[in-house]
Amino acid sequence: MSLVTRFAPSPTGYLHVGGARTALFSWLYARKMGGKFILRIEDTDLERSSQESVDAILEGMHWLGLAHDEGPYYQTKRFDLYKEVVAQLLAEGKAYKCFCTVEEVDAMREAQTAAGEKPKYNGMWRDRTDHPSDKPYVIRFKNPLDGVVVINDLIKGRIEIANAELDDLIIARSDGTPTYNLTVVVDDWKMGITHVIRGDDHVNNTPRQMNILAALGATIPEYAHVPMILGDDGKRLSKRHGAVGVMQYRDNGFLPEALINYLVRLGWSHGDQEIFSLDELVQLFDLSACNRAPSAFNTDKLIWLNQHYLKTLPPEHIATQLAWHLAQQQLDVSNGPAITEVIKVQAERVKTLKELVEVSRYFYEDFAEFEENAAKKHLRGVAAEPLALVLAKLTELTEWTTDAIHQQINAAADALGVGMGKVGMPLRVAVTGGGNSPALDVTLQLIGKTRTLARIALALEYITQRAENA
Ligand code: GLU
Repeated sequence: MSLVTRFAPSPTGYLHVGGARTALFSWLYARKMGGKFILRIEDTDLERSSQESVDAILEGMHWLGLAHDEGPYYQTKRFDLYKEVVAQLLAEGKAYKCFCTVEEVDAMREAQTAAGEKPKYNGMWRDRTDHPSDKPYVIRFKNPLDGVVVINDLIKGRIEIANAELDDLIIARSDGTPTYNLTVVVDDWKMGITHVIRGDDHVNNTPRQMNILAALGATIPEYAHVPMILGDDGKRLSKRHGAVGVMQYRDNGFLPEALINYLVRLGWSHGDQEIFSLDELVQLFDLSACNRAPSAFNTDKLIWLNQHYLKTLPPEHIATQLAWHLAQQQLDVSNGPAITEVIKVQAERVKTLKELVEVSRYFYEDFAEFEENAAKKHLRGVAAEPLALVLAKLTELTEWTTDAIHQQINAAADALGVGMGKVGMPLRVAVTGGGNSPALDVTLQLIGKTRTLARIALALEYITQRAENA
């Protein structure tokens, strides 16, 4: 029997970090076991679901690289199937019509609470046959009255729930629409799901779902409930903690590799190893090594991983992600060096792709003004002579290579009998606008000859004007 997992998000918002981690665990487990990973959109809550959210989830999955083998299935397209199953349960006496009004159910709950009991539906229509013909009804599942349900949870271990704790759950509303627990059960059954990996906020639903599956004669899947993610303040991760949507991490300049590596470690470990390639994860991942306790989100660690992947992934690979950011900033890359060349010199110097774009603008567009402090310090009268000489020497070059550029800058410093610093810093500010850049020879090489010469000339003008204004 081959293994089948699924990710079953409700499209009521973007793909958040918790959902992405659940998806990742399901995806990894299927990949590791040579099984199948299904994507199922649980969109039956028409009021809260939206196409926009569906798109956001698909976009997030795609960006993370979590491809599904089947789907996406949409629950709203499967209503006929759910109705058939409800009818079957009804016909087999495993479900029944309940004609209670909302007021009656409320009164039942109040009386139970007043008597110090746990409020639950008391089963009053379970065995009645005196059905009114003109009243609305819901359909309830006949939960077993005795015995216990045992979940051998692959993460949490053995969990036992007495059937006496569970009431007869509504499986179809008065308008005939199926409820959440019913649709999940039907889909997990019909889609042949062998391993349900989901957030532990669903652990209370599991015994109910197992009872319905048993009533249908379906094979009951294995369950693995993943503990929740906490913010750095120990509270459940939410918008208050900043970015929780996966695509927000892309926008903030993170690489999918970094987020994947980060998410997997948030709840799973393999010794004290921190860095995992996807191939390695597929080899090593196992549900039994998942933590039982919640994990806390740690942005510093995510940044650390992002820096690691910026330094180690092939520039060609990073380029596809960086291209998106450059386009976001409306930088015309056809008008400058190859993105991979910029990555080679800048990736080690930044924490995120967003920052990489910020520190690389001068490769693709002219800056409007010099950074104030850098200019104040380095574009002074004393810089005029070295800059003018460098300009002359660079103008002579017929070949615009790092070696040739390097030699000309050195030659200028030698001719003036000054150290490199006296030439280098003014030059850096002149061509990049600021005081930080990779080595000058590569920086100039990437900026290109025309722009370099024009910018040095501008810096010389700036120095002259400054002297006049002083
Ligand atoms: N649709 C549910 C949710 O987004 C998940 C259901 C499940 O995984 O069984 O919370």
